[in-house]
Amino acid sequence: MAFNILIVDDSGTMRALVKRVVEMSGIMVGEFHEAGNGREGLDILEDNWIDVILCDINMPVMNGIDMLRRLKANDVERNLPVIFITTEGGEKMMAEARALGAAGYVKKPFVPETIKEVMLKALEAAYGAEQVAENTGAGSEEDDMDF
Ligand SMILES: [Mg+2]
Repeated sequence: MAFNILIVDDSGTMRALVKRVVEMSGIMVGEFHEAGNGREGLDILEDNWIDVILCDINMPVMNGIDMLRRLKANDVERNLPVIFITTEGGEKMMAEARALGAAGYVKKPFVPETIKEVMLKALEAAYGAEQVAENTGAGSEEDDMDF
């Protein structure tokens, strides 16, 4: 199983950057999906299986906090890990995200390594370390040597 990832941000440039960082992280990706706001993100979730969401907070139509609130109110989607990637680094906003059950929090501007670390931690918490190890670059060299 590779992870299907939904990137939600109103900036197309930021979505492309986040996608690039994830591609370079060694985490195996099945499908990438993109949305420009929380509403579009929820629409994508209706038609696609998503394993983790990387989500902006400040967006028009529906912001990231409201999107997370909607997911947490849904029996099926409440366990889906949501990682915020945002310029909203205030203590109050971080506390609210944490209280709502965000799986991680990355402040913009970010370094690629931070996204990778926070993603791995969130994926391990949601799906177990073994599942994540099987779907990252880690260990693949050893496998090659065995053959
Ligand atoms: Mg934004």
